[in-house]
Amino acid sequence: MEAFLPYTQKILIVDDAPSDLMVLGEALKAQYEVIVATNGEAALEKALSDPPDLILLDVMMSGLDGYEVCRRLKRNPVTRAIPVVFTTAKDAEEDEVVGLAAGAVDYVVKPFRLPILKARVKTHLELKRKTDILESLSFRDGLTGLNNRRRLDTVIADEWLRAIRNRRPLALVMLDLDFFKPYNDNYGHVSGDECLKTVAKALNDTFRRAGDCVARYGGEEFAIVLAETTAEQLERSAENARITVEALQIKHEFSTVASQITASVGAASILPSRDSSVQELIEAADDALYEAKLNGRNRISIRKL
Ligand code: GH3
Ligand code: MG
Ligand code: MG
Repeated sequence: MEAFLPYTQKILIVDDAPSDLMVLGEALKAQYEVIVATNGEAALEKALSDPPDLILLDVMMSGLDGYEVCRRLKRNPVTRAIPVVFTTAKDAEEDEVVGLAAGAVDYVVKPFRLPILKARVKTHLELKRKTDILESLSFRDGLTGLNNRRRLDTVIADEWLRAIRNRRPLALVMLDLDFFKPYNDNYGHVSGDECLKTVAKALNDTFRRAGDCVARYGGEEFAIVLAETTAEQLERSAENARITVEALQIKHEFSTVASQITASVGAASILPSRDSSVQELIEAADDALYEAKLNGRNRISIRKL
């Protein structure tokens, strides 16, 4: 839910010639955060562990050359979107073609003409910033600022694979506000929206461990992915979600279970394997939610798969 505050963008400069590293570093460090690597292996490692916004990549290096580094960057989903600009003394046209085919966005030749280099770097970084903003918007729910359904789907799929690798359980919590239609009908749609925003923020503030992902699932339904959570721990988390909503004390005179906004919560936990599917986990949580509604609302129901 963080705002798009302008931050200092980071450039990774890769060159095996210390003098070239110096020249580029000096030219760019006033405006950008600069990190460096002096060979291809180190560049790949840095790009993965501390992803930059742009990579200036020397073509001619001993060990992995720039082309190969670029191909590997483009194969890895973590580094794929980082624009790569080749720097090289070779200015033959065919080299440029090879570089662009390897996935680079641009090509600058040595010796550097710094004003031109800086202008190109600026252009690519501005484009990167816009792409980042668009990408994060496409994953965001417009009303609440939470992760949207599309984002939730990717997170569950990623966590599912990770859970299989690490042989750890994965849990999903589904939460649906009780009698929200009468809330809307009586207090108006604007108040309904305000209520959804308040609930979203509260849930997001409550579930903030590294493996937690809070999303708006649709309408007045929310979902929370909890990595590394067993069925036993899940009961506490589900109850925590229910209490988080109740504790807001949003007045609701048209609910028949309480005098304030409450939520029914369904949750499921699974030890993912190649024989099970994400769909099973989602259906189980959904089933549990249905049961919580049936049993009287403002309560939790848990499924252990
Ligand atoms: P239950 O206790 O069984 O969950 O009943 P309910 O009234 O909460 O459920 P129902 O699915 O009948 O109604 C959900 C309502 O949520 C319908 C609609 O008025 C409201 N709603 C869904 N999305 C939004 C939204 O974005 N803004 C507002 N203000 N209301 C929404
Ligand atoms: Mg609903
Ligand atoms: Mg509802």
